[in-house]
Amino acid sequence: MLFGRSKKNPIKIADKKIIEWKYATCGYCSTGCSIEVGFNDEGKPVSSRGVADADVNRGKLCLKGIFEHELFSSAGRGLIPLQRNNWHQPWEKTTWGDALDRVHDGIKAVQKKYGRDAFAVISTGQMLTEEFYTLGKLTRGLIGTNNYDGNTTLCMASAVSGYKRSFGSDGPPGCYEDFEHTNCLIAWGSNLPEQHPIIYWRFKEAQEKRHFPLIVVDPRVTMLAQNADIHLAITPGTDVVLQNALMHVIFKENLQDSDYIKVNTNGLDELMAEVEKYDPISAAKICGIDEDTIRSVARLYAGANAAMSIWTMGINQSTHGSDGVVGINNLALITGNIGKPGGTSLSITGQCNAMGTREWSSCSGLPNHRLLENEQDRKDIAEFWNIDEEFLPKKRGMFQTDIYHAIEAGHIKGLWLIATNPLSSLPNSERVRRAMQKLEFCVVQDCYADSESNQYAHVYLPAGTWAEKEGVMTNTERRINLINAITPPPGEAKPDLWIFNQVAKRFNAKEEGKGKINFPEHSADIFLEMGSISKGRLADISGMTHELLEKNRGVQWPYTEQQVSAGEAPPAGGKRLYTEAATFRYADGKAKLIPLPFIDNNEVPDEKFPIWLNTGRLIEHWHGRTKTGKIGNNNKYSPIPFIEINPDLALELGIRRGDYVRLVSRRSDAVVMATPTHRVPKNMVFLPFHFHDCANRLTLGLLDPHSRQPAYKQSAIRIERLEDQKAAAQLSMEMRNF
Ligand code: SF4
Repeated sequence: MLFGRSKKNPIKIADKKIIEWKYATCGYCSTGCSIEVGFNDEGKPVSSRGVADADVNRGKLCLKGIFEHELFSSAGRGLIPLQRNNWHQPWEKTTWGDALDRVHDGIKAVQKKYGRDAFAVISTGQMLTEEFYTLGKLTRGLIGTNNYDGNTTLCMASAVSGYKRSFGSDGPPGCYEDFEHTNCLIAWGSNLPEQHPIIYWRFKEAQEKRHFPLIVVDPRVTMLAQNADIHLAITPGTDVVLQNALMHVIFKENLQDSDYIKVNTNGLDELMAEVEKYDPISAAKICGIDEDTIRSVARLYAGANAAMSIWTMGINQSTHGSDGVVGINNLALITGNIGKPGGTSLSITGQCNAMGTREWSSCSGLPNHRLLENEQDRKDIAEFWNIDEEFLPKKRGMFQTDIYHAIEAGHIKGLWLIATNPLSSLPNSERVRRAMQKLEFCVVQDCYADSESNQYAHVYLPAGTWAEKEGVMTNTERRINLINAITPPPGEAKPDLWIFNQVAKRFNAKEEGKGKINFPEHSADIFLEMGSISKGRLADISGMTHELLEKNRGVQWPYTEQQVSAGEAPPAGGKRLYTEAATFRYADGKAKLIPLPFIDNNEVPDEKFPIWLNTGRLIEHWHGRTKTGKIGNNNKYSPIPFIEINPDLALELGIRRGDYVRLVSRRSDAVVMATPTHRVPKNMVFLPFHFHDCANRLTLGLLDPHSRQPAYKQSAIRIERLEDQKAAAQLSMEMRNF
């Protein structure tokens, strides 16, 4: 007998006629999920599924990964190279040969007229690591500009800066497996279920088995905060005060790990002197967390056998983002929670390959965390690349966020944008627009021809995306994963690696006196070259090959050729960093405890602009929606810009659910739909940043002094209810349909 659905209304799963599944790694967030794309009998990608034997995701994918195969045929893809003389003229089709010649000649013309650094290059966290390495070689070794950065300055720069200041090197010390060992987790400004759903699932599975406490620090009642044992609804921008107060309690109650501190750190006295000033009663008045809760959290964290912290943009995107990261590291170091199972400070990275660009792009230095400021590092790389050592700058150039100010001031005249869309992603977007209009020569290389920033380009180079190319990416836990080229780029679009190699050929052929640099064509060969210059370094990958990465569903660095010779299979030590005593990357092996005085230097609400603007992500979308805005199911679930607004504030302003409202900041304005909810306090609204011409019209984006990362999370606005709701709806639709 048939019961229920099977009889009445059986679910039918469409037969997509899949005849082959091809392996890759998800190209959205930094979780690094192994994915297989199913191809039908016509060779079309029709489905995506998680890989069951992959340690990261164990067969699962989130909403973005499930529909990722639809990217290949999404609207707006660039199919042919284009060029024009001025940005306000119509585009003309051109050949690859002419477009690439124009790129070379345009760069040279700007540099000849205004100097080498007057041409800037800005890349991304979206490309493959071999592409980053090749672009770094081209930019540092042949083009020779020092104004070269990635859009990772917008999301991870504070984490990089904080790790370097505390430990002497970038590199997250922990891994996902730490959830299975920890006895206490503090999540700082991280909404895992929406931002990194599969990492959240790894955490949740571990927590359900062992019931360790989850403490969430976030001004908003996020999905993660709803699951927390303790939610600290902190006043925006005051994390350092809370961190200092927690350390104050730990030292006062003698809860620190003195043996660990003695062997592994410097700077204890200076740190203690600073945190002495942050008693919980005084701190509570600034950070908004009551003194008893501060004491309870300090005891819970320091009393756990193993405690860990994770964080994302709530810490990084602040005027003291780097200090916030150092504060998390300070807490871990004084309690001996680095390098042991369940004890770590783990930055949850943003873009799929933000880690790859940190390790290999040469944006902030030279390959594999080498520094431009270090003479030996410059010498080693110059010798390896066969260039004159003097051609390399002796300190890093501008950060991305400073480059636009330099364009505005007329110091930078040319720009090459690669897989990044500053008009959507930078704060105060109207100011960025005016700056881009001033460029004498602008190249946009992107898989989408309809990227907003392409409006101001003189040459457009259509690039492949995600698994149209072969190479590797590094995820949050230092795991290097392989992506296979499972389908070719559409039309005449080419892999980014091919484009860089073609530009390099032109520089190699036409320039004199710098020697010829070798640019291997195939990513597997480039990966081996990278391995050879990684030997003996923290991020040693000399034991890895593309084949090994696919076979193991990713390998965490370090994994060395000595380990291969000794027959040690991965992860072989790559799970955690700094597991041995005094192995931090400062000369004496000790980490630094750094005092963090709190300086309140951001925009705060006042009489004219009385509401906090808090920005962040939704599960359906990825960054500026360049990709997910074109994927039916992702867009369908979250199609228009909206704010979360407290019902009491909505009532006060006469705003009902579904009304359109105007948000006004000192920079500009934006029209969005209102959604009343108790997730936000009465003096704050939350606005997803994904929508075109919306959140970043409002944000101020003051910069962190160490990382130059913008403070997207804290601006002040006022809210106006719009009388003409029909016109407002039309405006809002325009933001949706870029
Ligand atoms: Fe992709 Fe991140 Fe979702 Fe995994 S969690 S499927 S990596 S977007």
